[in-house]
Amino acid sequence: MTTTSGPRADDGPTQRRVLVVEDEPTIAHAVASRLRAEGYVVELADDGPGAVDAALRRPPDAMVLDVMLPGFDGLEVCRRVQGHRPVPVLMLTARDDETDVLVGLGVGADDYMSKPFSMRELVARVNALVRRVDRARALARTPDDGVPLELGPVTIDRAERRVRRDGTEVHLTPTEFDLLVRLASSPRTVLTRERLLADVWDWADASGTRTVDSHVKALRRKLGPGLIRTVHGVGYSAEPTGDADDAHDESDDDSENAADDEAEDRA
Ligand code: CA
Repeated sequence: MTTTSGPRADDGPTQRRVLVVEDEPTIAHAVASRLRAEGYVVELADDGPGAVDAALRRPPDAMVLDVMLPGFDGLEVCRRVQGHRPVPVLMLTARDDETDVLVGLGVGADDYMSKPFSMRELVARVNALVRRVDRARALARTPDDGVPLELGPVTIDRAERRVRRDGTEVHLTPTEFDLLVRLASSPRTVLTRERLLADVWDWADASGTRTVDSHVKALRRKLGPGLIRTVHGVGYSAEPTGDADDAHDESDDDSENAADDEAEDRA
């Protein structure tokens, strides 16, 4: 057990539960024993149906979810579990570029890590997921949270964690919600991808900037293209007028961000 980054709840000694879904026994057991060493209670599942059963029987505080599984895949697991109750999901992908494809499908994972990964990184990301849930709960208890945040036609109720566009509810994943709140809390302000990673993902290094890009794309898809402006090579800003003029320009974003990521990978 480590200190403040450990998996215990802010308001009690309850041990945090992680469901690890992975059909490769070597990886599954390595991940499980590392998380147990960090103080988590770990449950294992090795196929899609088993994962859904386990998650619905005893909802975990976080899920580590492999994409390719027997039965049905991790995307379907994510959909079925999230359909009942939001659970933070760290998805394990086979390759970096698979992450973008998955986010494009609107699967609803909160973070992605491509194989092979370091156990240290995995633990850091699971800790970050769990901390974020704690923080979101604490935020929801603050009194001024009853005031909805507005971004153009979008209304954000932080206490209920609900988002509406022109009065119609839009379903966001927990991470999409937190990212939207962060952007909408500082309208017309450019937030770097590193800043967003730190504030939303509680993730201190820049290796996950692709995750930020992917989640911004998901928000644009769900809320409309004009609300979040890309500042090339820097980051993003929320535009309350809804006329972010680069919205038609996403293919250019992709190539630029991909180039940035490659540069970071090599650094
Ligand atoms: Ca697999």
